[in-house]
Amino acid sequence: MLIAGGGLVGLTTALVLRHHGVDVTLVEKRATTSPQPKARRFHVRSLEIFRELGLAETVHEAARDLADHDCMAVGKTLAEAEQLPPWRPSGAGESMDVSPELPCLVAQNVLEPVLRQAAQDAGADIRFSTALTSFEQDADGVVAELADSGLRASYLVAADGARSPVRSALGIGRSGRGAIGEDSVNVYFRADLADVVRGREFNICQIQHPDAPGGLASVDGRLNWVFMTPGGDVDRDWPALLRTALGVPAPDLEVMSVLPWRPEMLVADRYSSGRVHLAGDAAHVMPPFAAVGANTGIADAHNLGWKLAAVLSGAAAPSLLDSYDAERRPAGWFAADQSSRRATDLTAAPDPTLAHPFVLAAGGFQYPAGAISGGPAEGGEAEPVTEFAPAGRVGTRIPHRWLDTARTKSTVDLAGPGWALAVADDPQRWRPGGIPVHRLDVDFLGAGEGVLIRPDDVVAWRGTDPTAPANVLEKLLHA
Ligand SMILES: Cc1cc2nc3c(=O)[nH]c(=O)nc-3n(C[C@H](O)[C@H](O)[C@H](O)COP(=O)(O)OP(=O)(O)OC[C@H]3O[C@@H](n4cnc5c(N)ncnc54)[C@H](O)[C@@H]3O)c2cc1C
Repeated sequence: MLIAGGGLVGLTTALVLRHHGVDVTLVEKRATTSPQPKARRFHVRSLEIFRELGLAETVHEAARDLADHDCMAVGKTLAEAEQLPPWRPSGAGESMDVSPELPCLVAQNVLEPVLRQAAQDAGADIRFSTALTSFEQDADGVVAELADSGLRASYLVAADGARSPVRSALGIGRSGRGAIGEDSVNVYFRADLADVVRGREFNICQIQHPDAPGGLASVDGRLNWVFMTPGGDVDRDWPALLRTALGVPAPDLEVMSVLPWRPEMLVADRYSSGRVHLAGDAAHVMPPFAAVGANTGIADAHNLGWKLAAVLSGAAAPSLLDSYDAERRPAGWFAADQSSRRATDLTAAPDPTLAHPFVLAAGGFQYPAGAISGGPAEGGEAEPVTEFAPAGRVGTRIPHRWLDTARTKSTVDLAGPGWALAVADDPQRWRPGGIPVHRLDVDFLGAGEGVLIRPDDVVAWRGTDPTAPANVLEKLLHA
């Protein structure tokens, strides 16, 4: 297996594939992981995936600096800013358990080295300073030209970012709303602002100064910050503009890098072409307003990883891989659509027609069709979007319920890397075809019901026929 791109998504793909025992080589053209903080909010679904990979604690440890920075703030300058009250989505009572994991704020340039090390420790062949220069595919595999050598692989995952040379080489176009709003510049800078911020810690502080409008994002909450400001001009007097936005002298201020970027909503017209599959920004770009770009890419990796592993081991026919596009392309559209309709003004009232934030956070997009049986495309029940009401519907992630009083094991832990069958009655009644059966006493299972859970925690089937799971599995893997 070859992965092109060693950003968040390529590294996560390598980790998922190693989790399934697949040999993997990853090539990254840069010498280092991301120099820019970029994504910082990782939702519970991503943490659940890291949990399955045995990495959740490590990621939370990396996120420790921003553990108390969940609030937003608004002011003319940082010095004048006030913290907004902690925000709770509607319907989110104290008892609402969304996930066995908590979300976290950790900057991408802090997280990527953690993932790189973990992938290396897991036995992946990780090669930085190594570009994929070209590739060809035939019926048996992919022949890749690297900057310094060649390599033959069974499949290629293109996690090579928004400009994806692999996507271009395949001639795959993109559709969507295109540019959303103005070009922006992210200025990554260092200044000791610990005393200015203490007691009003924030994730993002909206700066309303007419000469320096933008969002100030915490990277470590003390020394490292990103200022996101509208306009495409990168040659401005950044130290002066930043001091205006901060409203304090900040004598030690040092600009580290300046990243121009354009908020865009574009989704690849195909996620797969033969033995090549697109994942992450190569497949979809979206504005960061819902903080789901990287999270959607991590979910791509989780979806694709078990399918590639099943095909490579002979447990599934190659046709299983067709479900990657059938599932993840609509999921990419959903995330990109939601992101591009969200406001940047932190003081604006939430739009009730948008997805409930927990739906986005819990990766709650329902696959209409794919490696599922009885999903919405076949008349199955549709999951609501504007409210958070997971119920174990086909094509959705299994709802989280704690399975022990110590709250150590969740329904989300039942599957992965293998399949699981959760049933409401006597497990002996079921003929699951070798899949482990778990008897559960949970509200979302009716009398005599069972749910077949895929390795990526998605409900593949639900019903009361005890012979159905084995037949469904055979059909999904060998259709
Ligand atoms: C300002 C900003 C803020 C954001 N905030 C959030 C947020 O809060 N939450 C969120 O979820 N997302 C956020 N995002 C989006 C997030 O950063 C991206 O979705 C994420 O980086 C995508 O990861 P990726 O691995 O797919 O692509 P990238 O991070 O772009 O990585 C692609 C890698 O491929 C490498 N590469 C390219 N070509 C080749 C080649 N030929 N050979 C080898 N390697 C190659 C590149 O060097 C690069 O390292 C934000 C983005 C921006 C710009």
